[in-house]
Amino acid sequence: MIKPAAMQLSCPNCGWKNRFQPRSDALLGQELPQQCPQCGNPHLHSATIPSISESLTQLLGQVRGKRP
Ligand SMILES: [Zn+2]
Repeated sequence: MIKPAAMQLSCPNCGWKNRFQPRSDALLGQELPQQCPQCGNPHLHSATIPSISESLTQLLGQVRGKRP
């Protein structure tokens, strides 16, 4: 089961940032703001945040692969 990556929106103008975690069953259920709620800047930066559980799974896989 693959979880969608979380999105982080940030405003370079005033420093506002917020994190959005899309749901797997309702990918389009959460609306992302089109502009900064603090200063109204429409040019928000967006970045995906890799989920922690995914990193842990990869880590565990590496540990298991290195059994003597
Ligand atoms: Zn702003």
